[in-house]
Amino acid sequence: MVVLDHVDKWFGELHVLRDIDLTIHRGEVVVVIGPSGSGKSTLCRAINRLEPIDKGTITLDGEPLPEEGKALAALRAEVGMVFQSFNLFAHKTILENVTLGPVKVRGMKKADAEKRAGELLDRVGVGHQAAKYPAQLSGGQQQRVAIARALAMEPKVMLFDEPTSALDPEMISEVLDVMVSLAEQGMTMVVVTHEMGFARTAADRVVFMADGAIVEEATPEQFFTNPQSDRAKDFLGKIL
Ligand code: ATP
Ligand code: MG
Repeated sequence: MVVLDHVDKWFGELHVLRDIDLTIHRGEVVVVIGPSGSGKSTLCRAINRLEPIDKGTITLDGEPLPEEGKALAALRAEVGMVFQSFNLFAHKTILENVTLGPVKVRGMKKADAEKRAGELLDRVGVGHQAAKYPAQLSGGQQQRVAIARALAMEPKVMLFDEPTSALDPEMISEVLDVMVSLAEQGMTMVVVTHEMGFARTAADRVVFMADGAIVEEATPEQFFTNPQSDRAKDFLGKIL
């Protein structure tokens, strides 16, 4: 569904993505791990074209990513993204945060968007908070709203960039639970995370990055029990 073919990117002199080949299949959960600065966020941002790439191609369902205009807005809807910081609109209610995109980008009727938003907010466990503003919710609740907001656009794939790393420990599992259930429902997902429990249980594949390159790609079982590269062994030694 998403195919990266010989993708390179530089920030000035810094080679942040090095010859990345990666195919993400429909319904697959790919967990991306690696040391700080290895290019994980840049990889995610490249997939919904928040960052342009310098070489290679990225396609979604066989189509190259659009570069601008309406097609780019449509791409951002098809590729949902959830960040470490929840990025909700502070001056809009929870319900408005979730209906805005479908109404503006998808041209959905407000009443339909509200009905759907209500269902999604129920699904992530914050339906009763719909009239509140983001600041009135806990971090875990806000992050679940951010997930509902992305889902409201009916994305083909969801990208999560360290969605739990800004959360207090007791709120991490409530967000991971939502992600696990999304995975079980067949959502195609790319997840950058340091939550190795999630990687072990929910990932179909683990991609290990270091210095902008994919160093290792394996099932979680293989990766955690028998990492092949020294970089991966070193990394796992530090975090496990
Ligand atoms: P972390 O685990 O800390 O989030 P990461 O694997 O997500 O790290 P990236 O954020 O993708 O890493 O960054 C890869 C490299 O690119 C880093 O060296 C970073 O400093 C650099 N970088 C990221 N964004 C920019 C930018 N806009 N301009 C210049 N350099 C950047
Ligand atoms: Mg990052």
